Amino acid sequence: MGGDMLADYQGRGFSALRVSITKACNLACSYCVPDDSRHTRLADELSAEEMFEAIKLLYEVLDLKKIRLTGGEPLVSPKLNKLLPLLSELPIKDFSLTTNGQLLSEKIPLLVENRVKRINVSLDTLKPDKFAFITRQGKLEKTLRGIEDALDAGLKIKVNMIPIKDVNEDEVVALLDYCLERGIELRYIELMRMGHLSERSEFENKFWSMEKLLCQIRGSYHVQAVDSESNATAQRFAIPETGYFGVIANDSAPFCQTCNRLRLTSNGDLYGCLSSPMKYSMSSFLGGGDKTSKEELKSLLSAALATKQQVSFYGSNLEMKSVGG
Ligand code: SAM
Repeated sequence: MGGDMLADYQGRGFSALRVSITKACNLACSYCVPDDSRHTRLADELSAEEMFEAIKLLYEVLDLKKIRLTGGEPLVSPKLNKLLPLLSELPIKDFSLTTNGQLLSEKIPLLVENRVKRINVSLDTLKPDKFAFITRQGKLEKTLRGIEDALDAGLKIKVNMIPIKDVNEDEVVALLDYCLERGIELRYIELMRMGHLSERSEFENKFWSMEKLLCQIRGSYHVQAVDSESNATAQRFAIPETGYFGVIANDSAPFCQTCNRLRLTSNGDLYGCLSSPMKYSMSSFLGGGDKTSKEELKSLLSAALATKQQVSFYGSNLEMKSVGG
């Protein structure tokens, strides 16, 4: 399967799909949402079958190489039990999931049975109080236990950390040590101007740049830049004979010119760009809706592709939780 290439004037297409399987989350991270109200699922959330239908249709008309399930928190969704076996039918090699790890230990059998081999776990601090502060009541020991259990089960793990000024930027090296000791590749993610952080002053008070974090790491390790894939979002670095880490420098080194991502929300909307509020509903293509032609879906996707920024991300009122981080 896999369709004809859809490409814009910069040669960009959609080959990586992020699926927010639910908006619901068991945490309320301070960089993601403005207050501690836990998000619940959307009233019009797609069922597992509808979501699979949407993903399969996208797979059939696009040249999809990667699918990542995210949210909200994918592991809180009861849909996962049905969706994962359905998705394992698709011949996608690069299939992964992003989680906050709070429910990871108990969900490992489900992931392993359904051939999930790679996961990203968000972990911004190794201090229990700070973890509870950043995530608004999350339990650090649950995420750490989840990581150990996942490693024991043979899952490949990357850890995502967002260094935030005056919150956890002092743990840039501690998180790297933790990951290197376990053979985990750490991904530092520069804070993005999303949701409530799209306010300039709030963002600038919290932003910690790639330059600053590399300077911290160079105080402890010899660091060498290494080549990354052409459309990779992360810049990779090696610490000789020790391991690797990466930096997703959304702000310092934007990568819009090679962005190949498409996002599908839990209620079936497509977003072609995090900087654009434009959304394109797939609902009329699902469950015997009135649109059945692949040509119609392609023109919807062309419209979504046209929303990609030329050079850099400039911020958005969208919350990562809704659109799928
Ligand atoms: N609940 C899962 C988790 O916590 O990993 C998946 C969803 S979460 C929205 C996905 C990723 O988005 C996380 O790694 C988180 O760090 C990132 N994220 C959320 N808000 C962000 C922001 N303002 N800037 C950069 N990354 C953000």
